[in-house]
Parts: sequence; structure tokens; C-alpha cells
Amino acid sequence: MNIRQEILKSIETKPFPEVKKFKKVSSYFGENTFSVPTMKKHISKKTFEAFEAWMEEGKQISLVQANEIADAMKRWAVERGATYYTHWFQPMTGMTAEKHDSFISFASSPGKVIETFSGSKLIKGEPDASSFPSGGIRTTFEARGYTAWDPTSPAFIIESKLGKTLCIPTIFVAYHGYALDKKLPHLRSIEALSASAVRFLKLFGSKNVRKVFSTCGPEQEYFLIDKNFYRLRQDLLLTGRTLVGAPSPKDQQMEDQYFGSIKERVVNYMYEVGEEAYKLGIPVMTRHNEVAPHQYEFAPIFEESNLAADHNQLLMEIMKKMALRHDMVCLLHEKPFAGINGSGKHLNWSMSDDKGNNLLNPGKTPEDSLQFLAILVAVLRAVDTHADLLRASVASAGNEHRLGANEAPPAIISVFLGDQLTQILDTVEKGKKTQISRQDIMDLGVARLPLVNKDMTDRNRTSPFAFTGNKFEFRAVGSSQNISTAITVINTIVADSMDYVRTKIEAAQKSKDFNTAVLAVLAEVIRETKKIRFEGNNYSEEWKKEAAKRGLPNEPSTSEALKALVKEENVALFEKYKVFNREELKARYKIWLEMYIKLLEIEAKTLNEMVNSCIVPNAFDYQGLLSQNLEHIVHLESTAGLKFLEESVVDMKVHLSEVTEMIYYVRKNAKAMMQFLEETKGLEEDEKAHRYFTDLKPIMEHIRKHADLLEGVISDEHWDLPKYRDMLFVK
Ligand code: ADP
Ligand code: MG
Repeated sequence: MNIRQEILKSIETKPFPEVKKFKKVSSYFGENTFSVPTMKKHISKKTFEAFEAWMEEGKQISLVQANEIADAMKRWAVERGATYYTHWFQPMTGMTAEKHDSFISFASSPGKVIETFSGSKLIKGEPDASSFPSGGIRTTFEARGYTAWDPTSPAFIIESKLGKTLCIPTIFVAYHGYALDKKLPHLRSIEALSASAVRFLKLFGSKNVRKVFSTCGPEQEYFLIDKNFYRLRQDLLLTGRTLVGAPSPKDQQMEDQYFGSIKERVVNYMYEVGEEAYKLGIPVMTRHNEVAPHQYEFAPIFEESNLAADHNQLLMEIMKKMALRHDMVCLLHEKPFAGINGSGKHLNWSMSDDKGNNLLNPGKTPEDSLQFLAILVAVLRAVDTHADLLRASVASAGNEHRLGANEAPPAIISVFLGDQLTQILDTVEKGKKTQISRQDIMDLGVARLPLVNKDMTDRNRTSPFAFTGNKFEFRAVGSSQNISTAITVINTIVADSMDYVRTKIEAAQKSKDFNTAVLAVLAEVIRETKKIRFEGNNYSEEWKKEAAKRGLPNEPSTSEALKALVKEENVALFEKYKVFNREELKARYKIWLEMYIKLLEIEAKTLNEMVNSCIVPNAFDYQGLLSQNLEHIVHLESTAGLKFLEESVVDMKVHLSEVTEMIYYVRKNAKAMMQFLEETKGLEEDEKAHRYFTDLKPIMEHIRKHADLLEGVISDEHWDLPKYRDMLFVK
């Protein structure tokens, strides 16, 4: 038995973990968070009012009040057994980062300590930031990045088997206030959206809306595989995806996995993820199998987008941690396995006012419906004008494998609205009336908009930006990505378009009554943005052709897509809405380009090592076996009565040459790949990234092709790497 076969055997005998006591979720939901109600219980009325005023009106609290909150937070955390605290933040590289400090400080009597935590430590932390990439914003010797408390997201306690840590959500900024993270731009984009939306709503008669915010519910896809297989695959370990691996004869073609019953080992895992998430106040709602074997999904109830983003980051961490406890590994990569579906994160997005009204709800009165239509059209214009930014917001090496493959939306951004809304927009577009009464609006069908329900709009699963009843669903986000960047872009471009539509209506209103003015402007914008709407199959070849005819961008390459971030008009847009300044955009472009390059280099080097240390040696063993056999047969002493001997010798020679050829090509291409890396070493980064996309990836595919052919012929005994069927079907 080789090591692969030993693992296969051990999985069958693995016992399930012990049964736990069950508790009602409502009895412990959020118990590990220092939520607003918890804070209220632990601090004085006056300080709590000051905190509320800060949240509502942006009036900063005093240091004395911050001290009181910090002390309450510490007492709460220490009571629950926390001994350390950390500022928890989301650097531009996509993961979350922490630097832990103990609560201890020296007491007045020598050799004794007490637990303390001050307001200034709560508000501001100074991690040694020098090794986080800053894209030129902060030079290393300055190293003065600091973290600052985000009071809109509650602090929480993370438990490990042997201790607990208080985590404080923070932004991460350079000393002059430049954002070094993904949270700060997200928060700024909520402010921008709020200002534009409040002005917009005012025009439509809502006088007392003070605040609007984005709401999000990210549907998180992932794979699970046995930990032992994972350990034997250098590629999964170092790059998160398989760089070689022949397809399993059975994969997802039977369509028997989606919504199928969940295997016990997996469902145990899901229960535990759920429990941990609930303790942290993460409203995980749905869990089910996905299309590919061993692929699953978690979806939460939607929340205010900043909270949703924090919760999604946390959930990904919990998912990884819990998988290990169940002797599995949770793969969040966008394309862990070639040939079957990859993983995405459908980002459900909408806007809500401070009264809890969903602005993308079609509405119950003609006035509401007209406002809804105007907002919908503003979103259409946002996507039409800034499709390049949406594409850039999901650009990464991992997602590059997914976008445009035949299971995910293409790199072409388009909007799906569904039949009913399409009809309504068509009517508005053609409307020739100059005077429109309340009755006319009803006649246009607008009054019947509440009938637009999910069942009628959610039919097209292939659209990258689909209206699904009372929200949009951006489906191009990658499974491992922080959703903040996509939200930041959507919020900003929608803010911009709401301003655009509002300004037009205000101008038109000078010569027409309000309804007529609105409908005239909408007709115009509907016409201008028509090319972004597509109701058909987004995965089809025809759509690619049609989209090209319409002049829609289709950018498969990450490095090219990222360039949208530094285009002059986009810099101007983000600066206008104070979401990013030029330096911040340049930094992101540079860092994300570097990440792409580094990831591909790691992949290439890992592939080279796998080829040389595992695949080729396995193949040599097998080649040796073949040639020995051949040698034996050819030199048999007595061959009397042996039929098919000659044919067999010919056949064995053919097989030996096939194997020899595969080995030859694998080695040849691996050498060419390493040579290519050498040759491109000195190139400028954007040129290098581009060459990696056009030249390096095809060489890697070439190596893979021959390696996978070898896997298909080499005896099981001689093949050490876990196969697709082992990883995907052994549960
Ligand atoms: P599906 O898209 O699979 O049909 P649902 O429409 O029920 O499923 O919900 C998908 C996700 O959309 C859930 O996470 C849900 O909380 C979220 N969602 C629902 N309404 C909104 C909203 N107004 N804003 C943001 N997300 C929402
Ligand atoms: Mg969905």
C-alpha cells in the first residue's frame, strides 16, 4: 500500500465526535459580542447617550467616556475568561490581521499585575505595520500605520481550546489618514451613498430620512476535503488549488449533489460552524450542498453592509478553523479543482433608510413605485457607466479561473431585470406623453409593481448582476474575497448615478410637472443604458459576440482589469465622493498587481517541484516496470504455445513510448516554465503580470495536460498524489 491508499483506508474507520448538549440558538446568539445592548448594561446612561449621539450624528465621544467604555468592555471580556485583546483589521492583502496584547499591567505592589484597558488603547493601536504592503503610501522606515476602533461593529471574543481573546474591529490607516485597509473605504462609501440617497429621496418627497445605508447578504461557497489528502497535496497546501489532477470519471454530471442530503460528517461540521457563528452574532441562515461534489454553501440573513463584511470575514475564519477540528480542510479558493464548478460569493446588495425601508422594494403606491423605478434606473446607469470598476473590484488570480469559465458569470458585466420589469422599462422608454397623471402611472403598470416578486425575477442564474425581487445580486465576487471592495464600488457608483438622475430630474422639473419630468428623465436614461441589460444565457458564446457588438468590456485578465482603478475618470469619481484618493487607488493597483504576480510565481514553482519530486519519479518507477516487463518477455527462453506474443510486444512498446513521451513533455515544459520565470524577472510589474497571463498560464496548462495523462495510465500503486476521486468522493 502506498500512502494514498493508507489514507483511504483510515477515513473509513474515523469515529464521529461526541454528541453535544443542544441549546436554543436564541438563548446564546451574540453571547460572545459586546453588542450595543450589552454595552448599555455596563456603562452609565450619560456615556451611553454620548455613544448613541456619536453613532447617529457623528459627534465624537470624549476620552473620559472612551475610558469608561474600554473599562466596561474589559470587565465584560475578563469575566468571560479573555486574557488578551487585539485590534482586528482587514489589510489590503485580503485576510484579517491581529496583534495580540495582554490586559496586564504592573500593579502598585511589586511583582503583581492587574488587568487594565484604557480608552486610548481601545481607540487607537499601533501594530508594527512595516511588513504590511502599503503600495507606496507609507515607506517602511516610517512604519506608522495605526489601527482605529470602528464602534459601528461590536467587539467580540474568539475562543480557542486554551484561551480567549477580545477582538476589536478597527480600520487601518497611515499616519496622514490614508486608508491601508478595506474597511475604511467601505465606511466612506456608505457615507457617500447616504448623502446622495438622502438628497434623492428628498426630491421624491421623503422629508425626514436622515440616513441611508447599504445592506448585504453574501452567499459563501466552499469545498471540504479530508485533511490527510490536503497534506499530501503541495499545491493545495501552498496555493489553495490543485495544479494537476485528472478529472474523475464521475464529477458533477449527474447533478445529484445540489440540494442533496448532506452527509453526516459534513453536517456535523455545519452544526459546529453555525454554533460558533451564532455565539458571535453572525446570522447564518441557509446551508446546503452546491453543484460540485464536496462543495457547499452558507448564507446569512442580510445586515448593514459593514457588519455583513466583518461577519463574512469572521465566518470564513470559523469555517477554516472548524474544518480542522473535523479532520477536514475548508477550501475557499475560487477554483480548487479544474473541470468542475468553482466557488463564488453571491453578493446580495440593497439600500435601506433609517426607518428600515428597503429602497429596492417596488413599493405599494404609485409614488413609491415611481421612486423605486428611478432608483432602479440609477443602478442601471451605475453599472453601465462603471462596469470596469465592478470588474476590477473582483479581479484576483483565483477569480480569474472562474470568471468566464462555463459555471460562472463571464468577465462581461451586464444586468438582468426579468420580464416584468423589462416590460415596464420598455413602456417608460417609449412613453410619448408629456403630461402624466396619477392615473397614467397606474396605466403604465407601475402601480402593479408589488407583483414583481422573486419567483418572477430570479430565473436567470447566469447573470453577473441580477435584480432578484428587492435587491441586486452581484455574482462575480470570488469565494475567498473580502466583500468590502465590491460593496465600496457599488455604493460609490450608485451614489454617483443617483446624483446624476436627481440633477436631471431637477432640471426637467423646471418646465414640467414632477411625474412627467421623472418619466422623461427615466426614458432617456433607460435608452442610454440599454446595452447593459441582458436577459439571456450569460455563459453562452453568442452572448460574448453580442456583448462585443454592444461595445461592452470583456476583460479576462486580472492585471488588465485592475487598471480601471487608476483610470483618470475613475480617480476623479472616487475623489469626488471621498472614498479613495489618488494615492490610495495607486496603492491598491500596485498591491493587487503584486499579489497576482507573487501568487502565480508560487504556483509555477510549486508545480515545478511537484513534477520533479513526485510525478516524474512516480512515472519513472512505472516506466521501469514497463521496460522490465518488456525485457522479460522479449528474453523468454521458451515461447512455444504463447499466442499474441508479437502483438503484445508491439503493444507494450507503444505503451512504453506513450509514457516516455508524457514524461518527456512534462519535464520539457517544466524546464521551459522555469526558464520563462528567469527571463521575465526584470520586467516592469504590469508587463510581467500581463506576460504571466498570456504565456505562463498556458505553459502551466501544458504541463498539467501531460501530468494528467500520466495519472490516467500509471498504476494506482505507483501514484502518490491524492486523486480527484479520492478528494471529492470519499466522505
Ligand atoms: P436566493 O438568492 O438563493 O434565492 P434569497 O433571495 O432568499 O436566496 O437570499 C439570498 C441572500 O440575500 C440572503 O443572504 C439574504 O439575506 C440576502 N438578502 C435578502 N434581502 C436583502 C436585502 N434587502 N439586502 C441585502 N441582502 C438581502
Ligand atoms: Mg442567490
